[in-house]
Amino acid sequence: MSNMTLAIIKPDAVGKRFTGKIIDHILSAGFDIAAMKKIHMTTEEAQRFYAVHKERPFFNDLVEFMTSGPCIIAALKKENAVEAWRATIGATNPEEADEGTIRKLYAESVQNNAVHGSDSDENAVKEIAFFFSADEILSE
Ligand code: ADP
Ligand code: MG
Repeated sequence: MSNMTLAIIKPDAVGKRFTGKIIDHILSAGFDIAAMKKIHMTTEEAQRFYAVHKERPFFNDLVEFMTSGPCIIAALKKENAVEAWRATIGATNPEEADEGTIRKLYAESVQNNAVHGSDSDENAVKEIAFFFSADEILSE
C-alpha cells in the first residue's frame, strides 16, 4: 500500500482553527483523502500510537499534548504517499522546516508541530489500521 499514508492534524492546529487551511494544503499538494474523521484520543490510545517513543524524555508530554483536544486524522492517497507527505509537512522542528511546508506555516514548537506523517510504508499501513477499519477507506 505504498500509495497511502496517515496524516493527523494535531490538537494545536485544530485548536487554532487551521484545519481548513491544512486540508486545502493537502488537496493542493495533490493528495486524495481516502478517509477522514475527528477524534479525541484517550491516553491509552496516544500511548499505544506513540509506543515507539516510550523511552524518550518527551513521551509523557507528547501523550498529554495529543490528548489535550481533538485531532483530525486522515488516510491520504498519492503515489509515494509517505515520502510526498513528509516533504509536504517539513521537519519535525518547525525552525528547521523548509519554507512553505505545513510545519513551517502552522507549527508552534517541536512538540506542538501541527501535523503527523507516517515514516515508512510499513508504519503507514499499521497507523491507518490503528484508526480506520477497512470499510472506512475509499479507493475512489
Ligand atoms: P515526526 O512527527 O516528525 O515523525 P518523531 O517521530 O521523531 O517526529 O516524534 C513524534 C512527535 O513527538 C513529534 O512530531 C513531536 O510532536 C514530538 N517530539 C519529537 N521530538 C521532540 C522533542 N525533542 N521535544 C518534544 N517533543 C518532541
Ligand atoms: Mg515519527
